[in-house]
Amino acid sequence: MISLKHRLTLTYALFISAALAVLTLVINQFTVIVFTSLIKDNIAGKSNEIVQAIGEQYNGMSRRFNQSTIEAIGMYFVHDGYIVTVEDEKGDTVWDARSCDMQECTKVLNTISERMEDSFRLNGSWQTLEYPVTHNGTNAGKVIIETYGPFFFSETESKFLSSINRLLVMAGIVFILLSIGISILLSGAIAKPIVKAGEAARRIANIHAKGADRQNLNIRLDEGYKTRELHELSRSINNLAAELEEGERRQKQLSSDIAHELRTPLTCLQGNIEAMIDGVWKADPEHLKSCHEEILRLARLVADLHTLTNFEWERIELHKTDFDLARLLHTAVDQFNQAAADKGIAINLNLRESPVNADYDRLKQVFINLLSNAVKYTDSGSITIGIEKGAKNWDVTVADTGIGIPEEDMPHIFERLYRSDKSRSRSTGGAGIGLAIAAAITAAHGGNISAASENGKGSIFTVYL
Ligand code: ADP
Repeated sequence: MISLKHRLTLTYALFISAALAVLTLVINQFTVIVFTSLIKDNIAGKSNEIVQAIGEQYNGMSRRFNQSTIEAIGMYFVHDGYIVTVEDEKGDTVWDARSCDMQECTKVLNTISERMEDSFRLNGSWQTLEYPVTHNGTNAGKVIIETYGPFFFSETESKFLSSINRLLVMAGIVFILLSIGISILLSGAIAKPIVKAGEAARRIANIHAKGADRQNLNIRLDEGYKTRELHELSRSINNLAAELEEGERRQKQLSSDIAHELRTPLTCLQGNIEAMIDGVWKADPEHLKSCHEEILRLARLVADLHTLTNFEWERIELHKTDFDLARLLHTAVDQFNQAAADKGIAINLNLRESPVNADYDRLKQVFINLLSNAVKYTDSGSITIGIEKGAKNWDVTVADTGIGIPEEDMPHIFERLYRSDKSRSRSTGGAGIGLAIAAAITAAHGGNISAASENGKGSIFTVYL
């Protein structure tokens, strides 16, 4: 397959060369036409000049021509390619160039024929024109002029025309060479960024397909091109590489987070079961219950991960129905009344009738996750749930007076498996999936969640439906 650079060079060079060749040809033809018409005028002018000069040599008194002057005039014009014959009024030859100097006439005739036929490929012939000579209105005779026709070039004219042609051909060759050079430079400038982008894409594909050095995804192309398409191409490749790099990083992070989440309950289970095997612990209901709790935790974690993966990778079908959001919140809060009461936290409801069309069960999951966090991360004070008319639909707030979220954790709390260090060390801490699930469900409904918090004073989560 031919490379882009070669194809562009070839196309440009062919196009410019063809254009130049046509231009040269047109100029050449034009020059010849203009020059020829000038020459024709010149020949006619000279013939008239000869006739006039010879006419002046007629003496009306003696009714004769001045022979010696006619000879001087005639022989002068022989050298220019005009063979002159002068006849008197009776038709008798007064003077004739051929009879005067046959050798010279033949030489001139041959030179002109050869010049016109060899150099200009003109298959002309010798033509004779007769011009009457009159004196005071009476016929005095005639001048017969033989020239090469339809036109001929003198030696100087022929040299001039040849050098113009040579000049045109040379200029054509120089311009064609120049155009090839410019074509190479121009196609190089266009092809280079495309070739580079192709190479980068191939490297990215190789890294992905073969798992070759994944660190090398930090491929970045120069984006400083003045051509919009080239600039966008480089930027797209850079974005692709950056996104793959980020995806790679998140995948690594996720694997290590999942491993970490699984390790804790597994280590606990392993320790407990080994203790029972070694007879350190009895397999009594109390110990078995603690093992069972760990197993439940593992099962919950796996189920949560599954839910989240479904939301992130598939289009989840929402089973939308019309219902009152306040009723949904009431049922969700009911699940946490006991837990809140146990911790001495009050739950305040600031609800109003708020009809929505949404997936009831999934939306309930959103508020269960938010309420579960609020209860989990609040040791004293209260939790307040409110509904307000929002810009598009309803805004629901879940505010607590709990431990709050450190500022540095705020940008990450909606990420999968993200937990603040504080909650990691707390026994209450979950797997860090609840908020990610809540955000995914809200997004599937076309809404979003925001969080505001003051460390140590409490947090407020707002669901914009
Ligand atoms: P988890 O299961 O750990 O609660 P989430 O995804 O629900 O996971 O929350 C992510 C992290 O956000 C939590 O680990 C916690 O650090 C922080 N967080 C969420 N809600 C609250 C809250 N109401 N108060 C304080 N911190 C919170």
